[in-house]
Amino acid sequence: MKKVGVIGAGQLGQMLGKAGKALDLEFVFLDPSDNPPAASEGRVLKYAFDSQDGLQQLADLTDLITYEFENVPVTALNTISAETPIYPPAAALRHAQDRLAEKELFGTIDIPVPEYRSIDCVEDLQTAGAEIGLPIVLKTRRLGYDGKGQKFIRHSDEMVAAVADLGGTDLIAEQWVAFDREVSIIGTRSVSGDMRMYPLSENVHNEGILSISTAPADASGIADDAQRYLTDLLQKLEYVGTLALELFVVGDRLLANEFAPRVHNSGHWTIEGSAVSQFENHLRAILDLPLGDTSMRGYAGMLNLIGHMPDKGALDLGENCHWHDYGKSARPGRKLGHTTIVAESAENRDQVIRKLAKKLGL
Ligand code: AMP
Repeated sequence: MKKVGVIGAGQLGQMLGKAGKALDLEFVFLDPSDNPPAASEGRVLKYAFDSQDGLQQLADLTDLITYEFENVPVTALNTISAETPIYPPAAALRHAQDRLAEKELFGTIDIPVPEYRSIDCVEDLQTAGAEIGLPIVLKTRRLGYDGKGQKFIRHSDEMVAAVADLGGTDLIAEQWVAFDREVSIIGTRSVSGDMRMYPLSENVHNEGILSISTAPADASGIADDAQRYLTDLLQKLEYVGTLALELFVVGDRLLANEFAPRVHNSGHWTIEGSAVSQFENHLRAILDLPLGDTSMRGYAGMLNLIGHMPDKGALDLGENCHWHDYGKSARPGRKLGHTTIVAESAENRDQVIRKLAKKLGL
């Protein structure tokens, strides 16, 4: 029985653990928090993510290591002995951890992005405002997620406070994109270089946090570009594992927002909505097993349960709805669970989503 080490024991680790049952895998997680969700799926080593002791123990106990979040300290990973491979590769982490490096990487493989400038002081932002035009989204280069570490700037008199609020330096200014829709494309590449992609997912965010995903998204006019961008990104990074690329849709043009070097919330629907989920394919990829079928089993939708777990009974879920409770304590803005619908038609799926969204106040 192969043993997989996972850095992070949140809900993504939990879903990896569940998917690993089909492959007869054993899991060990590394996470400093009390009672993390993935504790239901294996032993948890309670250490900080950059603890050399913790990481070395994880390596000693397992055959290979992966991670469920992108802010794993890259330098700490270098301390793990070479006998235990780590996937996805560190180059993917390095780029995903720095929005500026990420944008530059997209540029090297001709993936279009919103106009951007590197910002290290208020004057830089004033210049960017004059060149790109307002509104601008100012973001920290590192450690931002779910809309955190971001300021929306409509007027130039907001610039001084915005730069100060975000730490004054190591920022990036992006043109605000009046997108029609947001989509993501998720794919997996194995150690041998085999690749599979899922149909596009359309994503609705609320205050920067993913709220609803539906798949397959209407991909007319954009499918080829999305697939080309993802393929080139996976190859450029010599990537191993599952990766999600998030894109803005403007007419029939795509602009890349960011990528996540891991399994992704906008692909939770693949658990019930695809023949083989993004989680199982991630594990297959890192173990160099043949990748599984990514075709859909119907029309899928996913609603995140954020801030508090609703009363399941009151939602009157149909047979085609699947309930996921991560077992986390409630906190505003925290992802606590999700529900997935797999329907035989897009109309039926959208009707269920509308009903649930209304009951959940989304
Ligand atoms: P991020 O953390 O960069 O993925 O941003 C979270 C969400 O904020 C995105 O999914 C978008 O809804 C919105 N957002 C981020 N950057 C931009 C932008 N340049 N233009 C318009 N909306 C944006």
